[in-house]
Amino acid sequence: MSSVLDLVRDDLRGFTGYSSARSAKLDGEIWLNANESAWANPGDPLASCRRYPDPQPQALRERLATLYDCAPEQLLIGRGSDEVIDLLVRALCVPGRDAVLYTPPVFGMYAVSARLQNAPALEVPLQDSAAGFVPDIDAIITTARQGGAKLVFLCSPSNPAGLSIPLAQVERVAEALRGQALVVVDEAYAEFADTPSATRLLAGHDNVAVLRTLSKAHALAAARIGCVIADSGLIAVLRRCQAPYPVPTPCSALALAGLGEQALQQTRARIATVRSERDRLRMALSLQGHVRKVYASDANFLLVRFIDAEAAFQALLRAGVVVRDQRAAPQLHDALRITVGTPEQNDRVLDALATLEPVT
Ligand code: PMP
Repeated sequence: MSSVLDLVRDDLRGFTGYSSARSAKLDGEIWLNANESAWANPGDPLASCRRYPDPQPQALRERLATLYDCAPEQLLIGRGSDEVIDLLVRALCVPGRDAVLYTPPVFGMYAVSARLQNAPALEVPLQDSAAGFVPDIDAIITTARQGGAKLVFLCSPSNPAGLSIPLAQVERVAEALRGQALVVVDEAYAEFADTPSATRLLAGHDNVAVLRTLSKAHALAAARIGCVIADSGLIAVLRRCQAPYPVPTPCSALALAGLGEQALQQTRARIATVRSERDRLRMALSLQGHVRKVYASDANFLLVRFIDAEAAFQALLRAGVVVRDQRAAPQLHDALRITVGTPEQNDRVLDALATLEPVT
């Protein structure tokens, strides 16, 4: 029976990583084992940052595990999901041999991390269908097998394309690539979607991993808190490959405060607002003469094709609105990605685009 641990680089199997002063399970009153200062910094009167932090702050780990419905041992906190993507590539891919598969147009960090590790990149383009951009599941499986993929990144909902991937499709990929590849479902925008989390597949498929982040729906992008949820054995391996103290104390404190019951209630209300604004904006944009197509979105942004994307981009800039230019991305030569803002900000977007010359 294959285990997901077989996918870890051979040379890292017995790797114990850095042994920090924090890893020693000792008890005492006076801690003189980590070369920390005996006094607080004047800028930190409560001395909350005098000592090195717990590498995986227990309270935050438990809170996130409750939020994402997994065991704390199945979850590793990183500096945003960006760090976790990099960690997965480094721990699993032998440079020059094991490939990383992703589905352009898609979030750019999968390609960046693959490049940094000198892991071959396998690109299986999303297909522009009537429903929107969708992954070609058969091509993903075939390409992963033929190209020796060790990691398959599925972005759900996808950035910038917008759609979620049904769990049955994720499961098909995981099933087909068991023993060969870890299927990583990047759920950075999952809070805005209706599709259930791929964490449900973990019990039956140890080659599935899920990425979550507090950067989007939870409005804590600068705190840099993201995580990977996976088989607990794999989590332990990833931890040993990670930096000694990846979670700064002020960041974990902020994250805990941001995940309290009251904060979560507000976050849920904001998600509901984003979803209704997303629908309103999509409808209103579709009626504008300059807009060629607005893709359906399960996330907090809309991908929009324009008759003249440059003119739209400039009109928005003149109104003080900065959106993401997607024109350099494959298949998106005429597209901009617009994040859903407050109702007032969205009105600004609509007003700015309405100033464009009428299409004749
Ligand atoms: N995944 C996707 C799909 C994203 O769009 C982003 C950020 N744009 C990330 C991951 C990285 O998020 P984080 O802030 O957690 O590093």
